[in-house]
Amino acid sequence: MNLAVLYRGPLASCNYDCPYCPFAKRHDPPELLREDRAALARFTGWATATTDVRLSVLFTPWGEGLTRSWYRDAMVSLSHLPHVERVAIQTNLAARPDWLAAADPASVALWATYHPGQVTRERFLARCAALLELGVRFSVGVVGLPEHLAEARALRAALPPEVYLWINAAEGKRYTAGEEAEWTALDPLFAYSVRPHLSLDRPCHAGETAISVQGDGTVRRCHFIQEKIGNLYDGTWRSALRPRNCVNTICDCHIGYVHLKPLGLREVFAGGLLERIPAGWPNHPISAVSAASVGSVGLVTPGE
Ligand code: SF4
Ligand code: SF4
Repeated sequence: MNLAVLYRGPLASCNYDCPYCPFAKRHDPPELLREDRAALARFTGWATATTDVRLSVLFTPWGEGLTRSWYRDAMVSLSHLPHVERVAIQTNLAARPDWLAAADPASVALWATYHPGQVTRERFLARCAALLELGVRFSVGVVGLPEHLAEARALRAALPPEVYLWINAAEGKRYTAGEEAEWTALDPLFAYSVRPHLSLDRPCHAGETAISVQGDGTVRRCHFIQEKIGNLYDGTWRSALRPRNCVNTICDCHIGYVHLKPLGLREVFAGGLLERIPAGWPNHPISAVSAASVGSVGLVTPGE
């Protein structure tokens, strides 16, 4: 059995101050950090012991995890387990990546976001160069705000072609055709992000071969549907796994709709699903596909 696990503990603090983020410069009190550390240790113990499942883990902290030693340690230890196919984390890359030298590069990966205004491009690129040197898989992304376009272009130009650059549509922003084309020139898969996907009653892998786990072990099908379907630590998650249709009207976040079956994104991102790297990048056929033809596979248009 293959299972993708998206884990999010209590941590909700970050060293950066992005104007578009509710966790900017938030500080967690020491007791919450202790709780987060203990919750992660419990989760790592569960993952280590669950050897009958082929696990892929993505840490999706509300804030930044890699400035905390326990996330770095968890990633290193999980990366060496034979039944863990992938262990990845969403990160702003602020922390030095040297610790990754102790991880297995065959299974560890990063989903890195560049936040212009919080870090210089040169510093961010130096982090990317260090990851390339270490042989660690990673994608790099930027939020598609108009004020980020020049920096995103410069980043794309500076990164080697083998590094996939994704663009997330900015929340609440409607893109003109011209704007969409500009961002699609940087990320040929931007069309998947630019409009929300109609998901109600559509089959989704979430709750079947992908789950969302909170620090206390609460299992939900995904981060976007609050209904609890089991708990990781009492074993009830096993009987909860079954084919399910989505109960939300739309799904507009990559870590959700990548599991929406009609979109077929598990094939597009085969081998790099959690760290957001298209299969075979930079030679995947999708890299030559126009936004219009991507749109034909099932994206909704505004107003649909
Ligand atoms: S780096 Fe991420 S978590 Fe931190 S403030 Fe920016 S968007 Fe929020
Ligand atoms: S489509 Fe999105 S919201 Fe619906 S079940 Fe799948 S991941 Fe969750």
